[in-house]
Amino acid sequence: MHPDVARYLRQQLELGGGEIYLESVPRSPLPVPGDEEPLHPAPETPIETMPSKRTSFPIESGERGTGNGERIAEPKWKKDAPPIPGPGLTIIPPDLGLLGDAVSRLETLEELGQMVSGCQKCVLCQTRTNTVVGEGNPNAQLMCVGEGPGATEDETGRPFVGAAGQLLDQILSAIECPRETVYIANIVKCRPPGNRKPLPDEATSCLPFLHRQIALIKPKVLLALGSTAAEWLLNSKQSLGNLRGKVHRFGSIPVVVTYHPAALLRNPNWKKPTWDDVRIARQLLDVSG
Ligand code: URA
Repeated sequence: MHPDVARYLRQQLELGGGEIYLESVPRSPLPVPGDEEPLHPAPETPIETMPSKRTSFPIESGERGTGNGERIAEPKWKKDAPPIPGPGLTIIPPDLGLLGDAVSRLETLEELGQMVSGCQKCVLCQTRTNTVVGEGNPNAQLMCVGEGPGATEDETGRPFVGAAGQLLDQILSAIECPRETVYIANIVKCRPPGNRKPLPDEATSCLPFLHRQIALIKPKVLLALGSTAAEWLLNSKQSLGNLRGKVHRFGSIPVVVTYHPAALLRNPNWKKPTWDDVRIARQLLDVSG
């Protein structure tokens, strides 16, 4: 394929396009962000046995026989995935119940959403259009945590629906955890004006909601997107560089830290390390209780 065509297709994928297949080349999905493989490698396994981006979750991993002579291909994300790294920080989640906090009495995500929609605990309520409580599968095995809503999220009331959200969707599909299977939330539920970082009192006021969301959803793995998410989730001021490449614990739940998708849009060099991080998270899903 002509390099310009390859570049164009890669660009389309990054901008939110789905899989693209060309009539004249073997059918194989386009590479995921940061994937250095050629665009259309010859399939090593018959097309019918290749895992598609929409393979149901959890998927089978590793190549194995089916008993009737067929082979199930190893998922594409697993090829050259880094091994699961060693332990990092362990955070004991605050027992909100002991504090007699109203948030701890919320029994469903719907109740939590209602409380968030009327929240006036910090100044962000004065400038928000909508609260952005979070969305996704209430029984998600993977829960992604971002920083806070941006302009599109504030307008729509939904997390990660702008440009960064489209990239997040691609990343999630690439590890075969499509958006609808995961839960996506933020440290703060209202947009900080001008997309500034949430101030400490704003994050502190909002954090009990996130802690309750985690307690209700009980994900197998938490993925912290960016330094603000990592800082508040892990109660640590360490740099993103220090926090990456380790398996932290929020209570018993493994936490993987990676770059924020908006940062990847600014600096594509971070796509490869992000791809490694999310493949660590994906492997943890397979091995965590
Ligand atoms: N960035 C975030 O951190 N969260 C969103 O919901 C959108 C963009």
